[in-house]
Amino acid sequence: MQQHTGQHILSQAFIVTEDAETVAFHLGAQASTIDLTLLGKSRTDLDAAAIARAEAAANEIVDAALPVTAAFVSPEELAALPLRKPPKVTENIRVVQVRGFDWSACGGTHVAYTSHVQQIKIVAAERRGPELRVTFLCGRRARADYARLKALAQGLVARFTAAEDEILDLVDRRAAEADALRKDLALLEGEWAESKAAALYADAPVVGGKRVVVAALDTGADRVKKVAQALRSYPGVAVCLAARGERPQLVVTRSDDVALDAGAALRAAAAAGGGKGGGRPDWAQGGVPTNEALDLALAAARVALAEAMERT
Ligand SMILES: [Zn+2]
Repeated sequence: MQQHTGQHILSQAFIVTEDAETVAFHLGAQASTIDLTLLGKSRTDLDAAAIARAEAAANEIVDAALPVTAAFVSPEELAALPLRKPPKVTENIRVVQVRGFDWSACGGTHVAYTSHVQQIKIVAAERRGPELRVTFLCGRRARADYARLKALAQGLVARFTAAEDEILDLVDRRAAEADALRKDLALLEGEWAESKAAALYADAPVVGGKRVVVAALDTGADRVKKVAQALRSYPGVAVCLAARGERPQLVVTRSDDVALDAGAALRAAAAAGGGKGGGRPDWAQGGVPTNEALDLALAAARVALAEAMERT
């Protein structure tokens, strides 16, 4: 009854304040909606201020504690009433009146006074083609929603150790800080990859005049790939790098001046560890099931890369 009577009040409030008519409504188990037509209007939408105006007007009617009455009317009486919508039936027409505010042909049950609706709260508004769907809560539902939102706010206050009014600013600041940290991290990761690549290159054994870099790093596959990318820009180098972890990954690559089929070398190495993978002649990647398998794969890669360098 609260939701249904609230719908009558809100629909009429949208006509009075925004000239927006309700073309459909739905009284749902959790929330209710009205679909407002904006067709034929110069505007194509109702902004937040317009929606707030209608909500305020509806709540003024709630606060006014107007009687809500129902009566069957004769066709003559009906003709004299400013009905919000023409009735769907032609006889035994029951008109529900919110005194002096709204007249609707309706067979439903309603509260006796508008104050029993307690509150009308619009919680969402979204365009649906030419219409605007407004979702609202009345009375007990609005109170329950307030309790839910209050708990949410208190949760945020506890987590951020900030007053409610400061939370939005704080979230904005934290997001900006996170952005700055991400940029710093990307820069540092790039520098780290370059320096790691330089160290691996310097320490790598020379086979057939080429450097053979085979190593496992205790870091993520993305960082390992960055090091591999940095290494391949050196001259005369064949590379097999691995990321240790729950799902060990392997990369085989080479500089442009080295004749090595990275795809074939990767497949051979991965197979030695019971894994698989593949790729292009200059870049290939794959995985093996465990870190023990990774050791077998790296041993196989060391042999395969060294043999290929000896042949060139
Ligand atoms: Zn009704």
